[in-house]
Amino acid sequence: MKKPHHFAIGAIALVCTNAALAQAPAINVYSARHYASDEALYQGFTQSTGIKINRVDMDDAGVLARLKAEGAASPADVILLVDAARLWKGEIEGLFQPVKSKVLEAAIPAQLRAKADADGATPWFGFSTRARIIVYDKSKIKREDVDTYEELGDSKNRGKLCLRSGSHPYNLSLFGAMTEHLGASDAQLWLKGMVDNMARPPKGGDTDQIKAVASSECGVAVTNSYYLARLMRSDKAEDKAVVDRVGVVFPNQSSWGTHINIAGGAVARNSKNLSGAVRFLEYLASPSAQEHFANGNNEWPVSKDVQLVNPALQAMTGGKFKAETTPISVVGMNQVKVQQMLDRVGFR
Ligand code: FE
Repeated sequence: MKKPHHFAIGAIALVCTNAALAQAPAINVYSARHYASDEALYQGFTQSTGIKINRVDMDDAGVLARLKAEGAASPADVILLVDAARLWKGEIEGLFQPVKSKVLEAAIPAQLRAKADADGATPWFGFSTRARIIVYDKSKIKREDVDTYEELGDSKNRGKLCLRSGSHPYNLSLFGAMTEHLGASDAQLWLKGMVDNMARPPKGGDTDQIKAVASSECGVAVTNSYYLARLMRSDKAEDKAVVDRVGVVFPNQSSWGTHINIAGGAVARNSKNLSGAVRFLEYLASPSAQEHFANGNNEWPVSKDVQLVNPALQAMTGGKFKAETTPISVVGMNQVKVQQMLDRVGFR
């Protein structure tokens, strides 16, 4: 008699759980993360919370433009961007809803999130970091000639430099950080020097720059660290050949350190599912999601609780490197200045 009774209770409990899961409203995520390995990250959230994710993929500028156009009618709950300056832009355009979360404040170092507003709420948070590093042709270039960002604009590297567009967020943020370190007038001279040093007009993405160094079209180039790590972890013979030919520098180790950018997120200003949105951001700061950033997309976790085990990043840095400690919101604040300087020196 007892056995069927227990079964009945179990069945009721199961029905209740399913109903609760089915009722958990989905969150709508506008994402500029363009990394195939992220699928597992999103699935992990749905599995642990029952909250489904409807994802719309666009680049950073596309996400911000769409939020603006949709205004109060926007269905977006969470915004994921891959650049600090764009996160800052979203903040000043009022597109985010600042969040108070003890979980996020405890997990994420202060310099990797926005400054809190007057109410103590934070407009956006970094969830992973990437270094903007230098790669060079080991057969032609001496490492000591390219181990600082400043040297990319030095006349000794004339005709050797390859870069993607100056107006790409990854470069704009590097230039914003350099403006902070050098001051505006020296930063403009540096930008002009890089224009003079180019081996070809800016084109392609970061991986294209690495490949152009490997093929000796360029002597030196700049890339985000995870693109190189991806090639290092690839099984393809052509990728291995590329990695064999390029040297890697984490620049400015004897001054302010290597420029670090973030991928991060925020709650959308007009989210109708605030609790779901905050839960998702808190999930991104959790150890399992942080490990995903390290191993899935070869980024560094922001959480100090997570031990890095990514072998490609270990190999690249020799275990550790000096990263700049400038608060990440500074790169956003320098954006207008940087854009004007790029126009003045003809950096496309
Ligand atoms: Fe990227």
